Amino acid sequence: MNTFDPANNIQDLQYFGEFGGVNPSISDSSTYTFLSAKTMFDTFEGNTDGCYLYSRHSSPSNLYLGEALAQMEATEAANVTASGMGAITSVLMQLCKSNDHIVSSRTIYGGTYAFMKNFLPDYNINTSFVDITKLDLLEAAITQNTKVLYCESVSNPLLEVADIAALSQIAKKHNLKLVVDNTFSPLCISPKELGADVVIHSLTKFINGSSDTVGGVICGTQDFINDLKNVNTGACMLLGPTMDSLRAANILKNLRTLHIRMKQHSHNALYLAEMFEKDGLVVKYPGLKSHKDHQLYKSMMREEYGYGGLLTLDVGTTQKANEVMEMMQYENLGYLAVSLGFYKTLFSASGSSTSSEIPEEERKSMRLSDGLIRFSIGLDNDIKRTYEKMRACLVSTQILR
Ligand SMILES: *Cc1c(COP(=O)(O)O)cnc(C)c1O
Repeated sequence: MNTFDPANNIQDLQYFGEFGGVNPSISDSSTYTFLSAKTMFDTFEGNTDGCYLYSRHSSPSNLYLGEALAQMEATEAANVTASGMGAITSVLMQLCKSNDHIVSSRTIYGGTYAFMKNFLPDYNINTSFVDITKLDLLEAAITQNTKVLYCESVSNPLLEVADIAALSQIAKKHNLKLVVDNTFSPLCISPKELGADVVIHSLTKFINGSSDTVGGVICGTQDFINDLKNVNTGACMLLGPTMDSLRAANILKNLRTLHIRMKQHSHNALYLAEMFEKDGLVVKYPGLKSHKDHQLYKSMMREEYGYGGLLTLDVGTTQKANEVMEMMQYENLGYLAVSLGFYKTLFSASGSSTSSEIPEEERKSMRLSDGLIRFSIGLDNDIKRTYEKMRACLVSTQILR
């Protein structure tokens, strides 16, 4: 495993701007001229490489960012989208038609869950939600109509880790596409290398890292990316989740520092998780030996990027969670906000926010407690100081005595 270095791959892409600039020029156009009418016809037919037609199909800035992200995931190609949900919904609509079936992990992002549970059934596409750590149950859920096996490499919010290589074997055996949302673990885990067919990211999170835009990407084979962009039948072309060129240019610049940021997020999260665990708190972090998937994550990870920036703390009740989160925000330790991957720590109670789409009884069965706080740990320079201040908040709210 780990046959390539994603950060080197990104670094080795060299672009020049129009006037020799060190950043590629931003394509500030929705449409493109042709010197000859014949070339326009050929471009519509998909027969001319390097010609741009209309920016919903592709634009130079979006292609640069897509190329860099394909390099990061070591896939043949990639297509950027206006949001992570724009990527997820396009992939599922492209791969599944009426009467098709999806087998998905039950611990997934709330929006993805809601799309599969509430939206797709109207198009006669149904989903079985399973505990993907039980491979026999998962395999039993596959039917003749199943087309897609769906999971997150590290799942939201419980930080369950998917055994991507094992899932890939099952997908191959049943001729399914394995689609992996790798939003929580960019650089740390490379799903394609472990056998995933399609890798998705919400760029909104770690990859952009500055909580100033939403964005998404689909990484896969050149054929699949071409299918998505097909002017007659492609979900990205026809549903129109197109990223704006200015945003693509910004995200590409932020991507250049992702390797440094991931190391710091992981370093800080591991420190806090270890300290909270010593304090006797109910903390979950894949980097802790006590985490049930610690060994699995370790077997898939790139050591230098660590176990990621997300950890959870179960403080028992919604009321305690709210109290301590308000206090931590007051003390400027982070923001009480959804989302993740920001330079500053973000925290939210998952049960009443990002996972509220999941019905209460299902939240119970997956042990998503009301007192569960999800932390996205920031890039704090002095994490020991942060820990001491957080500890003080936990003591004054009597979560810690
Ligand atoms: C945020 C998130 C999404 C959705 O991405 P948007 O950019 O908000 O549309 C999908 N999957 C995961 C794991 C996420 O954290």
